[in-house]
Amino acid sequence: MLRRSKIRELLAGEAAGGAVLVQGWVKTKRSSKTVSFLQINDGSTLADIQVVVDSELPDHALMDSLNTGCSVNIEGTLVASLGKGQRYEIAARRLEVLGLTDPEEYPLQKKRHTLEFLRDMAHLRPRTNTFGAMARVRSSLAFAVHSFFQQRGYVYLHAPIITASDAEGAGAMFRVTTLDLGDLPTRDGAVDNDADFFGKPAFLTVSGQLEAEIFALALSDVYTFGPTFRAENSNTSRHLAEFWMVEPEVAFCDLDGLASLAEDFLKYLFSYVLEHCPEDMKFFNKWFEPTTVETLRSIVDSRFERITYTEAIDMLKASGENFEFPVEWGTDLQSEHERYLTEKKIGSPVIVTDYPKDIKAFYMRLNDDGQTVRAMDVLVPRIGEIIGGSQREERRDLLLSRLQEAGLSEEHYWWYLELRQFGTAPHSGFGLGFERTVQFVTGMQNIRDVVAFPRTPRRAEF
Ligand code: ATP
Ligand code: MN
Repeated sequence: MLRRSKIRELLAGEAAGGAVLVQGWVKTKRSSKTVSFLQINDGSTLADIQVVVDSELPDHALMDSLNTGCSVNIEGTLVASLGKGQRYEIAARRLEVLGLTDPEEYPLQKKRHTLEFLRDMAHLRPRTNTFGAMARVRSSLAFAVHSFFQQRGYVYLHAPIITASDAEGAGAMFRVTTLDLGDLPTRDGAVDNDADFFGKPAFLTVSGQLEAEIFALALSDVYTFGPTFRAENSNTSRHLAEFWMVEPEVAFCDLDGLASLAEDFLKYLFSYVLEHCPEDMKFFNKWFEPTTVETLRSIVDSRFERITYTEAIDMLKASGENFEFPVEWGTDLQSEHERYLTEKKIGSPVIVTDYPKDIKAFYMRLNDDGQTVRAMDVLVPRIGEIIGGSQREERRDLLLSRLQEAGLSEEHYWWYLELRQFGTAPHSGFGLGFERTVQFVTGMQNIRDVVAFPRTPRRAEF
């Protein structure tokens, strides 16, 4: 029995002239009097391989039953192709049908389907060119995340997914409970949380940051890369209820160092995907966003602009643009503001730093002006915020007063405060939204199309 070859290898001419076995799904079939052609894909690459089935071949009789979507085994010889469009093809010797498809019922026909239609077909959409390319680019980017940090000696930390730290204010949380919602135990007229699994309320994590800080203050350079959850009811093209975040946390590093890390990291990811997924990237560039490859290339060679929040507000005020949300020092930047800065005003990625303390989390380091904190957001065209981070407040007394100001409980954060009591050190970290990165790289409009099984308000199918 022959070993299965990947179509990617065959199209590169590996095993040319030899006997090969391919297994995959039929994309299309064409027949003439003397010969039939099948286009087969196995997901190893965007391109299909052409299989030539001579009508003299005994198995040619099977051709009538084959349709788009059928799965097949094909044995044959890899030969140089005479036709246009491919260098190699398979001259079939033996054909075997593994799974038939009724063409009347198979939802993925040759024509192009809308992305909305395909979202309801999450079990079949990986077989389309678009979602095959998406899966490969996403996988490649995930590998690049690890290789970037591993090459630099960062330790990969698995932050917990279930957490009882309810706060840090990153977003609304999903509660995790084993209580019977139809019959809640009560004590003194309120729900008895003591009866819950952990003896107190527990949630799905919104960020691995606090745990990453613990490890940074011991191992110096760490990162997490895992799922995070936000129960925000925001039905936008850039928010998911379940998404993956990359969170490096670095000791002995200030905000400038962190901004440089973010810049190096994004450039590494973009050049990695350009180098390792050229066909898939060409595909996205052709069918979805005609500037994406060019944009990534120019970012790799650019220097990210750095401006303060206060400068950003001045630029927005001077812009003469008609924004939906008013621009006022002290209010958060909306996506339209972020996009103006990166797309129109500056024309490249921008790192905005030093936001007003009142719109940022309590753990961000207070500046000497007493008004702003050492926060940073990295903004990119089309997406807006792709990274959010900060230098953390390492001074215990200041951290404590920020905690109190935010109305958070000191007892709850006892360990976070102790990290500042025992060998505190400057440290900084950021969170990169992994789906927003895939979205930016591929040029896809909607974040639901860069994740296999999107979870959004009122949708958790498959
Ligand atoms: P936004 O203001 O865009 O909602 P945020 O400021 O709440 O984002 P952070 O808490 O800073 O987000 O999270 C770090 C990164 O995680 C963001 O820069 C973004 O790339 C990503 N991110 C945040 N929320 C979501 C979400 N709901 N879906 C997908 N990615 C997200
Ligand atoms: Mn943010």
